[in-house]
Amino acid sequence: MESYNSFKVAQQQVMESAKLLNLDQATIELLIYPQREFKFTFPVRMDDGKVKVFHAWRIQYNYARGPAKGGIRFHPEETVDTIRALACWMTWKTAVVDLPLGGGKGGVCCDPKTMSERELEAVSRGYIRAIAPIIGIERDIPAPDVYTNPQTMTWMMDEYETIVNNHQPGILTDKPQQVGGTEGRRDATARGGVINVREACKVYGFDPTKTYAIQGFGNAGQRAALLHQEILGGGKLIAVSDSRAAIFNPDGFDPKELVMHKLKTGTVKNFPGAKEIQHNELLTLDVEILYPAALENAITSQNADNIKAKIISELANGPTTPEADIILNKKGVHVIPDILASAGGVTVSYFEMVQDKYSYFWDEEQVQQRLDKKISKAYHTVQEALREKKIHPRLAAMVVGVARVAEACKLRGWV
Ligand code: NAD
Repeated sequence: MESYNSFKVAQQQVMESAKLLNLDQATIELLIYPQREFKFTFPVRMDDGKVKVFHAWRIQYNYARGPAKGGIRFHPEETVDTIRALACWMTWKTAVVDLPLGGGKGGVCCDPKTMSERELEAVSRGYIRAIAPIIGIERDIPAPDVYTNPQTMTWMMDEYETIVNNHQPGILTDKPQQVGGTEGRRDATARGGVINVREACKVYGFDPTKTYAIQGFGNAGQRAALLHQEILGGGKLIAVSDSRAAIFNPDGFDPKELVMHKLKTGTVKNFPGAKEIQHNELLTLDVEILYPAALENAITSQNADNIKAKIISELANGPTTPEADIILNKKGVHVIPDILASAGGVTVSYFEMVQDKYSYFWDEEQVQQRLDKKISKAYHTVQEALREKKIHPRLAAMVVGVARVAEACKLRGWV
């Protein structure tokens, strides 16, 4: 079983790309470490009257191409290296879709599942008070991530606006539309993942109307289930899973009914007509397209060799371990890497920033068309790098992202 430090993996990926790009030592050193790290603590009075001190971070990994952009996680096992890795990947993700942004990430070590609504609000406000001096709409724009959501963003935005005594909705993204959010954010990540699949099918001749399976039936997974059929004009969804169950039906599920069932019962378990299977079985089913949309390290050296999907569109961050990646490559599976497949979310977050700046909002169709253009272009740019350098898609996406950031550093005279 592989065990590794995500940040070391992220650094390794940068070094591999740097070698292909012949980057000099100073540039490599600049790109394998965060430019700024802020570690801090803040006290919150909990519901039982006692004060609890929270440990937290905000990391601005690289801001050569624009303000840092990336989510804030609330997680009990948060570590600085996880945040460093995620901030590093955000840097290449924003660059690969050519957004004028850098990469960042933040986190609070806490267990939201054991906290009341009032405590969550107090932690959200405490966190943003502490980072207020280092963020800004031209400096660093946070967003939600694991266990944070549009409500968290609204509390944080309200606290920030109180500090600066000004309306600044663009300070955070993924807000509800009533307070400066955008159309189209809810399905943006899945939409980006499906658009990538559409382009891959055009290039490699795979048939998107055959079968597909989805691991993780949350925000990204549910939307991918629906959008796959809408965008690709068909496709049979034969298996889905969430943390409680994995279900299978060779005749296919109706994605709309499955989403309704999940909303009503909180799980995909006991969906009429479905056969329950082992979680691991879902990943190795004979499907044309597989969407991992749950957590990191789902595809490992233990199961990669048994994967039968022709395309894997990584909606989750880091679902494939480096060892599994090598196996999938050898097998000829077309892996659309997370920094490209899940870039739809940050792309629409960027659209939200633009609309907040202008205080003028686009309709859903405009958001979707602009997203489609950005993602399709990014897919084909990565394809060009892949062909030119004869490398696999993950490395090709990294090479595109790293080259763009390195160029910005050079133009600025940093290296
Ligand atoms: P979510 O919490 O809404 O959904 C995650 C789903 O995965 C849940 O249904 C959960 O039950 C399920 N799950 C957890 N462990 C599982 C397991 N072992 N097997 C099967 N299912 C399991 O989260 P989300 O927003 O949909 O994000 C999913 C992934 O996509 C994460 O890796 C996230 O970082 C990534 N991502 C999301 C966005 C976005 O905009 N939501 C953007 C970029 C990347």
